[in-house]
Amino acid sequence: MGFTRSYAVTSEGRSSVAQLVDCVNVRRTPQVRDQILAGTFHRVRDPADGEWITVEKPFGYVDLDRRQYYLVRPRNERHAFREANEQLMRMVSVLPAEYREAARFRLVFGLAELREKLLAQDAGIDDRTLELVKTYVIHQHPFLVQQPRLRLTLQDRTADDLVIHAAYDHTPRRFEVRVPSAMISAIAKAREPLKKALAKAHRHNIADPKDKLKWVSIGRWIPGLTVLDSLRAVAAALRKGTAPDPGSAGFRDMLARLPRGSQLPPWAKRDLDTLFNWAVQKKDSKLQDKLFEIRYGRDLEDDWALNDDPKDIDTLYKILRALPESNVEGNVALREIQLDKGGGGTYDPNSRDIAIGEKELAAQERFEDVFRHEIGHAVHEASQKKVDDWLQATFGWQMFDAARDADIDRWVGLLGGYGQVSAVQKTQIRGYIRAAVGGGSSWNPPQTALAPAGHPWNEPDYKPRMALARTGADWYMNNHAWLLHNGSRFAANYWYATLMVVSDDTLAFVNTKMPDNYAAMSPLEFFAEFYALYFDLDDPQRKNIPGDVAAWMKKNIGPAKKAGAKKQAPAGRSMDPSRSPSGKKRLRP
Ligand SMILES: [Zn+2]
Repeated sequence: MGFTRSYAVTSEGRSSVAQLVDCVNVRRTPQVRDQILAGTFHRVRDPADGEWITVEKPFGYVDLDRRQYYLVRPRNERHAFREANEQLMRMVSVLPAEYREAARFRLVFGLAELREKLLAQDAGIDDRTLELVKTYVIHQHPFLVQQPRLRLTLQDRTADDLVIHAAYDHTPRRFEVRVPSAMISAIAKAREPLKKALAKAHRHNIADPKDKLKWVSIGRWIPGLTVLDSLRAVAAALRKGTAPDPGSAGFRDMLARLPRGSQLPPWAKRDLDTLFNWAVQKKDSKLQDKLFEIRYGRDLEDDWALNDDPKDIDTLYKILRALPESNVEGNVALREIQLDKGGGGTYDPNSRDIAIGEKELAAQERFEDVFRHEIGHAVHEASQKKVDDWLQATFGWQMFDAARDADIDRWVGLLGGYGQVSAVQKTQIRGYIRAAVGGGSSWNPPQTALAPAGHPWNEPDYKPRMALARTGADWYMNNHAWLLHNGSRFAANYWYATLMVVSDDTLAFVNTKMPDNYAAMSPLEFFAEFYALYFDLDDPQRKNIPGDVAAWMKKNIGPAKKAGAKKQAPAGRSMDPSRSPSGKKRLRP
């Protein structure tokens, strides 16, 4: 379906409402992939001054044909990559076994990283190779890492080069790096020795396809990130009553390596305040001094070279020594580029953007539900006949194509037939039905011409007309009003341009025992919602699933098992806007 939800975006006291997506299903909404590549996805106007801003929020990205299952989290939640990785693996645990084969699971932070994955894929470059290419770029132009929080992002590919942009979190300078294509193939060929060098040097082996962490990024080597995650854990434990040991090596190491002053994300400042208040209570003035220094201190100059972990530097050089001595060495061209405001179609860290994190567990739950729902569509498509037959036999679901006379006749037949009408009138009635269903992709009934007075269509109890009249806008919410006949209810579907029938019992089940009456939207949405519920072992409504229905699912789709990872409150905290999900709207089914 790809839900969109309304989010309030607030800037300088003025707010507007943005429609944002919880899960992208590329097969069903292919235009979203193009929007991501064009840099126009999740762009909204700043309510204060009308400038474009990019909204970073968590969402699922599912591309069934390319077998990609990505979890996208806001860029400022990179430090929480372990927790996010657990979330991703929990989400994809509902994939049937045949889908898991050759599936690509990825954790991605921010739209720029997502765009890069899609670009690399279109260019036929494996993302692990791409990260090694970035290492090579740093090797060639080490000054790039002399400012903290470097981001290297693939921007484009020309016939001869890969174009990579270098930018920083905290400074506005930007560089363009061009890496010759020959170098890319050389690095791709050297993957195996590079993987071995990394295995020796570093625990984050981004070159290894067997790596359990699905964030494939040299960002994992930035020591400040893992240390921020330690800070988060220490502060969270302290709030729950477990005090840290300031004398321990781990704690001292954390303080030494934390980013300082303006480099700290807002949540980290709050976590430092938590520690600081505790140090005040304990009357530990030495610790207070240290924390103060970190909170307001001068920034460290260099993320990669001046940090206190010599192993990281060692790693880099080991890898770079292992790189092929090729004739293209030294050909990595670099130039500084000027900032163009609103710069066409890229997600630049220097552009203004806002991040929406998952603040509550409830929100996280919902967003994982949507992901499961999209997987449900895929499973349905893969076993169309089997699932359709079951939906009809067990739930009375049938859907008929309003473009086809034979389908219209079958639907009318279930309603008791056309009645005493002439052949000409029958043709006219088919036309009225088709007009009343409309052309699809709408949530509202179309404007239709009326049949002439005295036409059988206008008889007060003419059921096909009544069924269409009672369908209503956003028909799934209105399902109690659908025309009831012989224990089934009849309605039009303005999205698919179809005619539907479903048993009244099924609708009662949807309305009282399923999480969302969107399941009444169509048999497809019913199955996707049902699938999401069946595989959500924590959902209190799961117990409502009748035994025989659960047994069919287990036999034909697969057993619902507890995923390895437990659900937990997300560590990431959003910086900015006040968020109020003020209702949801469907972007597409
Ligand atoms: Zn759907």
